[in-house]
Amino acid sequence: MHELGIVFYIIRDVKEAAREHGVEKVSAVVMNIGEVSTIVPEYLMDCWRWAADKEDLLRGAELRFHILPAVTYCQDCHAEYGTVAHGKKCPHCGSENTYLLRGNEVEIKEIEV
Ligand SMILES: [Zn+2]
Repeated sequence: MHELGIVFYIIRDVKEAAREHGVEKVSAVVMNIGEVSTIVPEYLMDCWRWAADKEDLLRGAELRFHILPAVTYCQDCHAEYGTVAHGKKCPHCGSENTYLLRGNEVEIKEIEV
């Protein structure tokens, strides 16, 4: 289960940050999740509840998300466009010579204590 791996990763990072700052209790973790990342927020939430409640530091802590829009860049006409609406094909010139600029993020944005 992909999401569970991510949750363990988040928990490890949060524990590290908490240790560095002498924090004993975390109330919420806020994530940036890209629109086209492979994460399913509902699954991530389930895994989070299960795993976080096993840690003293994170018992009862909330997990929240900011969904970041995905943007693709066209190398032929240099336009940027919404990935979810148009996919790999540039809506301006029809080129498929494109790449994802952003929208694949899975990162910790904030830790609330
Ligand atoms: Zn184009």
